[in-house]
Amino acid sequence: MPTKAGKKGKKAHRNKKTSKKYKLYKIDGDKVTRERFCPRCGPGIFLMKAKDRFYCGKCHYAEFGTKVEAK
Ligand SMILES: [Zn+2]
Repeated sequence: MPTKAGKKGKKAHRNKKTSKKYKLYKIDGDKVTRERFCPRCGPGIFLMKAKDRFYCGKCHYAEFGTKVEAK
């Protein structure tokens, strides 16, 4: 893959945002609770929260209407 940074062997340094995955874990005593994770990718891959749905960035799984659980 060609890069824009022309000079050999040097890459422009760029800060990356940290994935705040640790925020998705809560430890309560000796139980670990997690945010919603992807049923396809399994625990460890979390679903991104959108207005009215959850979305997996890895397999593009989406879950709609999680707010409304009335039958
Ligand atoms: Zn997934």
